[in-house]
Amino acid sequence: MRVATIPCLNDNYAYLLIDDDNRGVVIDPSEAPPVEAALEREGVELSAIWLTHHHYDHVGGVQALVETHGPLPVLGSAYDMEHGRIPCQSRGLSEGDTLDFAGLPVELLEIPGHTLGAIAYVVDGCVFSGDTLFIAGCGRVFEGTMPMMQTSMAKLRALPASTRIYCGHEYTQKNLEFAQNIEPDNAAIDARTRWANELRAAGETTMGGLLGDELDTNPFLRWDAETVISRAQRDGADADPGAVFGAIRKAKDRF
Ligand code: ZN
Ligand code: FE
Repeated sequence: MRVATIPCLNDNYAYLLIDDDNRGVVIDPSEAPPVEAALEREGVELSAIWLTHHHYDHVGGVQALVETHGPLPVLGSAYDMEHGRIPCQSRGLSEGDTLDFAGLPVELLEIPGHTLGAIAYVVDGCVFSGDTLFIAGCGRVFEGTMPMMQTSMAKLRALPASTRIYCGHEYTQKNLEFAQNIEPDNAAIDARTRWANELRAAGETTMGGLLGDELDTNPFLRWDAETVISRAQRDGADADPGAVFGAIRKAKDRF
C-alpha cells in the first residue's frame, strides 16, 4: 500500500491509498479538484471513499467524486449513516467490522468525542485518525464528553509505537507551541518542534509521523505523565485520566 497525501482547502489533508494494481481509496476528500489531480498524477482509478467523520471539511468532495467516478462504495460510521450526515454514504461501519484494502485487513476504531460518529481506519501500519488524534495534538470536543474523548485517545495510544499517523489537518507546529507551554522542560518536544519546522520549511507535510514520538510529546496522550497531571491539577482537575485530559483540552481551547 502506498499513501499519497493530498493538501485540500487551507490546512486539510485527504489521503489516497494506492494498491499494486493502481486502484485507490480516498479518505476524507474535502474537495474534489485536488483529489482529481492526484488521481491523474498517480494514474489511479478510484474504487471507494472512506470518511472519518461528517464535517464539511472532510466530506465536501464526496458528491462530486461519486458523480464523476461512481457508483462507488462510500464508507463512514454507522452513527453518521443513521443520522444521514455523510453524502452518498452506502455503508455504516461499527468497530469490529471487517474491511480490507487490496487484501490487507483494515481495523476500524470507534473514537467518539470530536463527533459522536468519528472513526479511525488502521491499515498496513498506518492510522487515519481524522480530527481525533492530530500530530502533537487532538481535535476539539464538539459532540462528546472529555472522558469519552480520552477513552478514544487511549484506543489510539494503544496501537503499536511504529504506527504512522495521517490526520485531518496540518496543525502540527501550532500544536507543538501548546505542548511546549504545557511541558516547558520536555526535551522531546523541542526535538519534535525542530523536526516539524524543518519539514514545513521544506514545504513538506508532517503526516506519517510516528505514534512512538507522540507518546513523548503529545499532551493529549500524556494524561499519566507527572508534568501533565500537575498542570491539570493547577487548573483544578482531579488526577484521573478523563479529568486531566479535559483540563488540558480546555487549556488548548483558550491558548
Ligand atoms: Zn472535524
Ligand atoms: Fe476537520
